[in-house]
Amino acid sequence: MIIYNSASHTKEEFIPNRPGHVEMYTCGPTVYHFAHIGNLRTYIFEDILEKYLNYTGLEVHRVMNITDVGHLTSDGDTGEDKMLKGAKREHKTVLQIAKYYTDAFFSDCEKLNIKKPEVIQPATGCVNDMIKVIEKLLDSGYAYIAGGNVYFDTSKLDDYYVFNNFEADDLQEGVRDSVGVDKNKKNKTDFVLWFTKSKFEDQELKWESPWGLGYPGWHIECSTISMKYNGEKLDIHCGGIDNQFPHHTNEIAQSESYLGHKWCNYWMHVLHLNTSEGKMSKSKGEFLTVSTLENKGYNPLAYRMFILQSHYRKTQEFSYDNLDNAQAAYDKLVSRIAAIKDEGGYDEKAATALEMEFDDALGNDLNTSLGLTTIYDVLKFDTNGHTKLELIKKFDSVLSLGLIEEAEKSKHKETDESGKSEEDKEIDNLVLERAEARKNKNWAEADRIRDELKAKGIEIIDTKDGAKWKRV
Ligand code: AMP
Ligand code: ZN
Repeated sequence: MIIYNSASHTKEEFIPNRPGHVEMYTCGPTVYHFAHIGNLRTYIFEDILEKYLNYTGLEVHRVMNITDVGHLTSDGDTGEDKMLKGAKREHKTVLQIAKYYTDAFFSDCEKLNIKKPEVIQPATGCVNDMIKVIEKLLDSGYAYIAGGNVYFDTSKLDDYYVFNNFEADDLQEGVRDSVGVDKNKKNKTDFVLWFTKSKFEDQELKWESPWGLGYPGWHIECSTISMKYNGEKLDIHCGGIDNQFPHHTNEIAQSESYLGHKWCNYWMHVLHLNTSEGKMSKSKGEFLTVSTLENKGYNPLAYRMFILQSHYRKTQEFSYDNLDNAQAAYDKLVSRIAAIKDEGGYDEKAATALEMEFDDALGNDLNTSLGLTTIYDVLKFDTNGHTKLELIKKFDSVLSLGLIEEAEKSKHKETDESGKSEEDKEIDNLVLERAEARKNKNWAEADRIRDELKAKGIEIIDTKDGAKWKRV
């Protein structure tokens, strides 16, 4: 597989450290609010990356943090802890809102067919590990204590800016803001590893540490959680483009100083999803969520299709017109698949040609829109229905648009004038036959029909008004 590595600014062949195995880390959500559909663009991309690596025969061990402490509103060292801000907004405790929005995040992921990573680790569960990493950074001279806080000393590094070439006075806001604000810093790019109460008196969650009661910075969280679960050598690290600086830049600084060797080989960043008004942001309060789309009648999987229509390294613009088009394309695709008859033997030659096309698309820096084109090419291809369905199933194990499942559902929905599908009418008849058997005390026949329906996933409920049934 070829991927664009943000650290080398080039496309490279992907070669994992350990043959056949990939260690992958993806920055998780800051759970002070719902994930917006922009955040979810990043998670959809990461999901497809993991699934495509699996598709090529690699085993993937993916780790994700849940940020429930330490992420300040600036992304740097200034502003309020976002979790505290969320808790105040809702008059709840930090842990209450962390639980609520973590559950909401995974429920959104499920609706979008985003698989859960192998390891999910809330930051608050790993603070002692972070303290150990900070202690070693202090011992080895990469960190210093000033004004009660512990800072990373960026002057100790030869190359701090890995992703971008910032000029000293062309820094992003988070860092620029902190200049002058934080007199404890030796260099303007230094960043906090451990905050003490000297900085934020009203922080809700605090831990004992060798440097006093306090809490960890956001960057040390990801380094520590990755090194704990992925080990000392990471193959791929992903996140949204805004994470490049300062977050990922600082992660590299800490992890490599701690380990004494190169840490992560491939960095992948997803460009933003914007609306016509610009960047979508949780802190602005008004943003689009999966529920917003559902309430307007969209299928979340049509949103996933919309995301796949564009390359992850291009900024994508969201509009309802674009989503309408994606929903219409999705429905049409599903109904075309529903119309395929599963007949014929597996056509190896056709399969090989189409599999090559799919590999050329996804294997080239995850070109999902060409991957979608392959699905349409399967439909057009001169081969039998069985082969087509098998290939769609296979490619959709990566794209995860639920195409086969939605096509099955749509078959149940196809109704005649009586409002019932052929299949539903058949079930009605069997239920009537069972009632007849029971009336005649033919218990064996009644049980046989109940079992036959059960095998089809139908449960009979006997009520005083007669037997009813439902799909289970
Ligand atoms: P957060 O919950 O704010 O920590 O962000 C979660 C993930 O979403 C991070 O990887 C961000 O880089 C990413 N992200 C934030 N905004 C957007 C956006 N508008 N489009 C795509 N990804 C985003
Ligand atoms: Zn992170």
